Amino acid sequence: MNLPIVYHPQYVAPLPDEHRFPMSKFTLLYELLVRKKIAKSNDIYFPEFPEESLLELVHSNNYITAYCQGTLKEKEQRRIGLPWSEALAKRTCIAVGGTILTAKLALKFGLACNTAGGTHHAFRSYGSGFCIFNDLAITTRVLQKLKLVKTVLILDLDVHQGDGTAKIFQNDPTVFTFSMHCESNFPREKQKSDLDVSLPQGLDDDGYLQILSEHLHDLLSQIKPDLILYDAGVDVHAQDHFGKLSLTDTGIYRREMLILSSCIAQGYPVASVIGGGYSKDLKSLVERHSLLHRAAKEVYEFYQL
Ligand SMILES: [Zn+2]
Repeated sequence: MNLPIVYHPQYVAPLPDEHRFPMSKFTLLYELLVRKKIAKSNDIYFPEFPEESLLELVHSNNYITAYCQGTLKEKEQRRIGLPWSEALAKRTCIAVGGTILTAKLALKFGLACNTAGGTHHAFRSYGSGFCIFNDLAITTRVLQKLKLVKTVLILDLDVHQGDGTAKIFQNDPTVFTFSMHCESNFPREKQKSDLDVSLPQGLDDDGYLQILSEHLHDLLSQIKPDLILYDAGVDVHAQDHFGKLSLTDTGIYRREMLILSSCIAQGYPVASVIGGGYSKDLKSLVERHSLLHRAAKEVYEFYQL
């Protein structure tokens, strides 16, 4: 048994302005994982479309219907930042299915990785910042509804604050939202997570990892979650177009090893999503995202899950 990896069809061709939102990175990442034998055919899982009733566990019925039918107001569509198409709507829905499946696999095998996911800027009744439906929130609610988990810890290390997730779970004692992000970055108006750690611009590997390790131990011992949803955004990288931190590839790999080995060693299942990452240089970007899967494979094998 190898590390379970989830991949779903993309349905959309890359957008012309890849610098802005490189859709094709998902396919390239999957191809890289297969080529490097990090993803092995028996351990690749393909999600199904989620029933609309699952999306409704988090999002308003009006918003789901308007988005899926392409009838959102122009202003709402602009806030998402992606042009509507039937193909994108389809991809958005199956992406949610991907994170649900990743979480179920994590509960079964201890650790599982998605090759997409982390749409943390989506709120109950609107999307923003390239995020349409909040896969982390929906997954949490689905697993709770199925009584597979009670308490969930959402570890959001994308460089941007997980504002949609924070707002959705505000005042919910069963879900702990942790967001460690660059203070002077999108979204301008931050929400209140259960714990926010704001980082200064330009923070390097050692500074970042020191702050993270200071928080991680307490988080695990105090919350004792049934499941951890880990958003491993790589927009913390020095070369990221939208990030303002200064991590290197080595720093990101050390981060993934720290998170995954700490959680797994203490017996907490982890479902990882790739989160944000933006660069004109797609090859380097995809390598950066694959650090999560490389670290996960190592941890998975070390602990013989
Ligand atoms: Zn981000």
